[in-house]
Amino acid sequence: MNTPTTNPYRIVVGFFTAPAPALRTLMMPTTLHQLCYLQQPDRPPGVLLAVFSQAWSPKSTELCLQMTATAESPLYEPAWRFCDVGGVRLHRVSLTDAITALDRFIDSGRPHQVVTVNLDFLRLAHRDAQFRQVLNSADLAVADGMPVVWLSRTAGDPLPARVTGVDLTLHAAELAARKGYSIFLLGAAPGVAERAAAALVRSHPGLRQPGVFSPPMGVWSDREQCDIVERVRAAKPDMLFVALGAPRQDLWLRERLQELNVPVCAGIGGSLDIIAGNVSRAPAWMQSVGLEWTHRLMCEPRRLARRYLLEDLPFLVTALTRRAPDAAGQPRI
Ligand code: UDP
Repeated sequence: MNTPTTNPYRIVVGFFTAPAPALRTLMMPTTLHQLCYLQQPDRPPGVLLAVFSQAWSPKSTELCLQMTATAESPLYEPAWRFCDVGGVRLHRVSLTDAITALDRFIDSGRPHQVVTVNLDFLRLAHRDAQFRQVLNSADLAVADGMPVVWLSRTAGDPLPARVTGVDLTLHAAELAARKGYSIFLLGAAPGVAERAAAALVRSHPGLRQPGVFSPPMGVWSDREQCDIVERVRAAKPDMLFVALGAPRQDLWLRERLQELNVPVCAGIGGSLDIIAGNVSRAPAWMQSVGLEWTHRLMCEPRRLARRYLLEDLPFLVTALTRRAPDAAGQPRI
């Protein structure tokens, strides 16, 4: 695991957006990476003039506090960072933002949970309070699919983009190759994680050989659970990608998060099958118009017909035809 490096600059003066993360960052030794995060042009508004140095002093803290107080967002987890879709809290992030967040999680060294919320997640969360609570307490929740983005629009709280589990995993591998992070792939049918790991190593020169394990399908015994946790802990990865399907992968990760002690723990559903080449990915045009699910349905009709046609599609139609947000601005599904 990478240990945070201290800011190589003695004093930096600049304009930054995103006041709340800025405040938290500025209270600590700041890395060059964190500076880059603060300077991203698509951060929400609120300009902060920051002056900080390696030798932190109460005077400079006071200066930052004074400046941040003039910004429009609250100091902690401001509302503009989230969007509510049917009671599920999603982060208003692009793929680039999401990868930056993963990098920050690794920098912190503490375990974080990432959920990739597709339409099926929303349907399950609608009737399962425990699953909804797990999604809402994730450190990063991204919209895996255009239907979720459409729903955010009809709910009057639009998300900027979809961030699929496959794209998140591929770009995380690129980040890992660039920064020397290690990856562990857990789940999917026997052999799939190995093939996905080989594909990632082929397409990302410099990526360390990922750890892999395909646990038995179905319910695990206590002994199997311990074995799985031990394998991951022994590998000490920076990022763990878990492909067990929802809600299982996300409930399991929530339960084992502290024990696993991996900075990035992400549930990625069927992504390993796609990365391994077992299942083809929909053409880009189908993805962009929100028809990726029809492609997946054609690829695996027996497994997905019931879920997509009898469960998710009626849920989507009902949700899309509901009224727009009420007068108080409350999104509805
Ligand atoms: N899977 C698994 N163990 C199980 C059930 C499922 O490893 O007990 C894997 C399965 O092989 C597939 C993934 O979990 O790779 C589930 O993908 P699914 O399409 O259900 O997830 P989605 O992408 O729809 O969230």
